[in-house]
Amino acid sequence: MSDLRDLYQEVILDHSKRPRNFRCLDASTHEAKGHNPLCGDRLNLWLDVEGGNIKDIAFQGDGCAISKASASLMTEAVKGRPVAEARHLFDEFHHLLTDADEHAPPDDLEKLAVFTGVREFPVRVKCATLPWHTLIAALDGAGQPAKTE
Ligand code: ZN
Repeated sequence: MSDLRDLYQEVILDHSKRPRNFRCLDASTHEAKGHNPLCGDRLNLWLDVEGGNIKDIAFQGDGCAISKASASLMTEAVKGRPVAEARHLFDEFHHLLTDADEHAPPDDLEKLAVFTGVREFPVRVKCATLPWHTLIAALDGAGQPAKTE
């Protein structure tokens, strides 16, 4: 567990300082905004979905290190994947962060498993899950900003 904690610090710092896919997407098929009022995190998310696959994904926004790192890692995790797999990852990720029972992260979460450390800080769970809620809102075409509340 302490290895995972070190990795957590390292990955969060890296991705919050140099977020991946941090840009606008001109040709997007889906988009959504997300807001976590508890912390003040905001993001805009764009997706280019073609034939049921997430061809491209990008985000912009402002927020704490955890929300930025989570958005960056989320875009990396779902880019190039079928929409169904992205939804499945969301379920696993959400379960990992909100289920108090000790359990090992599923293998397919890969790097996302570092967020297991966030479970120790319940307030931060919403920062980490905001980009994922926004992803689902974009895929569902809800037209409403995704909120963590
Ligand atoms: Zn936050």
